[in-house]
Amino acid sequence: MKACYPGTFDPITKGHLDIIVRAASVFDEVVVLIMNNPRKKCVFSLEERKEMIEKSISKDNVKVEIGEGLTVEYAKKIGAKVIIRGIRAVSDYEYELQQATANLMLDEKIETLFFIAKPKYSFLSSSVVKEIAENGGDISSLVPLEIADYITNKLS
Ligand code: ADP
Repeated sequence: MKACYPGTFDPITKGHLDIIVRAASVFDEVVVLIMNNPRKKCVFSLEERKEMIEKSISKDNVKVEIGEGLTVEYAKKIGAKVIIRGIRAVSDYEYELQQATANLMLDEKIETLFFIAKPKYSFLSSSVVKEIAENGGDISSLVPLEIADYITNKLS
């Protein structure tokens, strides 16, 4: 079965990567979907975000795509029956519940499944990474090794 993991990934963190690896061991194929959301102000371009994810993971059953519009429509277009999301804390739950319910209303054949964050990544977000890097801090334990220097150089 094919699943998609939509998000902003500005940039990908070790928390995202952990979800991707775990999802790839459950599903036949996982498409990481960088959703172009004009309402979100991103630091990295869609292409930069795609390149960073591709550099971070090389698994035959993981692909990276850029999408826009409604996630369920994109999921349908690529033949994914499952939308994967991650939950770090109760604070994520409310937003995720709203999104998943809206998506269910749009298409009840597409299910949203949640992976809970590992405790060591439960505080980790793209915003935390950006804030630390912008202020000269060390992000090497927070993002995939292959892209740590790239992020540091871009943001410092
Ligand atoms: P979005 O803007 O769509 O929330 P993000 O890139 O911030 O995109 O996150 C994509 C998904 O990954 C969300 O479901 C989010 O809760 C989840 N996520 C983000 N960081 C982590 C983490 N450290 N551990 C587990 N899941 C995470």
